[in-house]
Amino acid sequence: MIKRQVEWTLVNKDEAVAAKKKSVETRKLIFKRAEQYEREYAEKLYVYVLVKCNLTMISPNVQRFKVGDHVGVRTYVNSCRECEYCNDGQAVNCAKGVFTFNGIDHDGSVTKGGYSSHIVVHERYCYKIPVDYPLESAAPLLCAGITVFAPMMHHNMNQPGKSLGVIGLGGLGHMAVKFGKAFGLSVTVFSTSISKKEEALNLLGAENFVISSDHAQMKALAKSLDFIIDTASGDHAFDPYMSLLKIAGTYVLVGFPSEIKISPANLNLNLR
Ligand SMILES: [Zn+2]
Repeated sequence: MIKRQVEWTLVNKDEAVAAKKKSVETRKLIFKRAEQYEREYAEKLYVYVLVKCNLTMISPNVQRFKVGDHVGVRTYVNSCRECEYCNDGQAVNCAKGVFTFNGIDHDGSVTKGGYSSHIVVHERYCYKIPVDYPLESAAPLLCAGITVFAPMMHHNMNQPGKSLGVIGLGGLGHMAVKFGKAFGLSVTVFSTSISKKEEALNLLGAENFVISSDHAQMKALAKSLDFIIDTASGDHAFDPYMSLLKIAGTYVLVGFPSEIKISPANLNLNLR
């Protein structure tokens, strides 16, 4: 497994040039791409990121960062910067947005995320990481973390004392449990595998662990949960989980199963 690296340290231009002497073509590509952006937007606010070398150059007009900062890039590296979403801090929803991976940027290049040799990104899509914050802990926050954090905040799932069900305990589920605990929620983890029990209860601190195929365990939790966040991407039934929500409970789906089938009664008769 190749560990994705999504944090970089900014260095000055001379250091970056020295480090990249053996890769002149890469440097040419960086500057060519930056010039294209500057012509297109008449702005000069670009941060130059060399992923695998942990080195970055920085444009003189960048305001939010300085050389030496630890920075992170989320799941998008560009957007139109003028639509209602861009103007509301939701550039990730921009119709002209460019994902950090498998996206086609405005210059026609294909983005490669953490597998890139370098990334050129507008400072608008860069985030400062505190210098004493462990980078290996910051990385998951920029993808799995924000994927569950954003909907949890949007749907007010941060109310201490309420109950949260987390379906699946991969990367997203792991982060959902940690946020749930940080918000003061009582967390129940649902999994198809008993092998996740130790991690859920003892490592992450969930209050309860349920094997989703255990009908008795599932039935005992009927209409008991305020929130459910579903992180499972494998195909699975939704109604058994919907029945665990209280009236007007909130079900958030962040996984990508191939289809969703829900009994209408689980929605319109229960204010969900
Ligand atoms: Zn936009």
